[in-house]
Amino acid sequence: MKVTFLGTGTSQGVPVIACGCEVCSSADKKDKRLRSSIMISAPAGNIVVDTTPDFRYQMLREKVGHLEAVLITHSHKDHIAGMDDIRAFNYFQKSAINIYATEFSQSVIKREFAYAFSDFKYPGIPEINLKTIADDPFDVNGLTITPVHVMHHQMPVLGFRIHDFTYITDANYIAPEEKEKIRGSKILVLNALRREKHISHFTLEEAIALGKELDVPEVYLTHISHQLGLHEAVSAELPPGTHLAYDGLSLEI
Ligand SMILES: [Zn+2]
Ligand SMILES: [Zn+2]
Repeated sequence: MKVTFLGTGTSQGVPVIACGCEVCSSADKKDKRLRSSIMISAPAGNIVVDTTPDFRYQMLREKVGHLEAVLITHSHKDHIAGMDDIRAFNYFQKSAINIYATEFSQSVIKREFAYAFSDFKYPGIPEINLKTIADDPFDVNGLTITPVHVMHHQMPVLGFRIHDFTYITDANYIAPEEKEKIRGSKILVLNALRREKHISHFTLEEAIALGKELDVPEVYLTHISHQLGLHEAVSAELPPGTHLAYDGLSLEI
C-alpha cells in the first residue's frame, strides 16, 4: 500500500499574487506546493483524501486512471473546491463516486454543489454518492479506516488512521481520547502551517512536540505556508524522524 502526497500547501501560501518571498520565487520543486491532499493506493483502490482546488491537476500529474472513493476531512474550500472534477472518473467508470464525509460536511457539499443534487440533473454533472462518517471505523472495499476527531479552532475536522498510518490536516487541538487513536502509528502526517502562532493550525514547534508526545517514529509535516521558509533550510533543522512532506512524495505504508 502506498500513500502519495498530492499537495502539501495551503491557500495561504498560494502565490496567486507573486509575493516575491524566497519560497514563492524558489527554483526548488519542493517549494512548489498545491493544496493539501493525499492518495492511498491500496488493493481497495485509489482513495483520495479531500478534493482540493488543485484536484484536477493532481489527478493528471499522478496519472490516476481510477478513483475508488474520496474521504473529506472538512468542508473548507481548500479541501472540497475541486469536487466537480470527479465527473471525469464518473465518465470513465460509468458509476457514481462514493464520497465519505460527516453530516456537517455533507450539508456544505450539498450547498456548494447544489446542481449535483437537484432532482433534474443536467447531463455530465458530477455523480456523487455521499456516505456518512460518524464515530466508528468504516470500510472501503475491505480497507478499515478509523476516523480521528480533531479541532481546527472551533471546527471539527476528521483525521484518518489506516493500519499504522495516520493523516491529520487542519488541526490545532486533539483531545486526549482522540490522541489514543493515533498512538501506535508508525507514520503520522500533521499540519504545520508556519512558525508563528495561528488561530486554527499547529505551528512547526507544536507539530514537532505532538509527534514526540505520541512517540511516532516517522512524522511528515504538511499544509505548509510559504511563511515557513525554504524546504531545504527547514528540513535541515528538524529533529530525526521528522520530515517536511512535499508534493509528489510517496511512502510505503
Ligand atoms: Zn481548513
Ligand atoms: Zn486547509
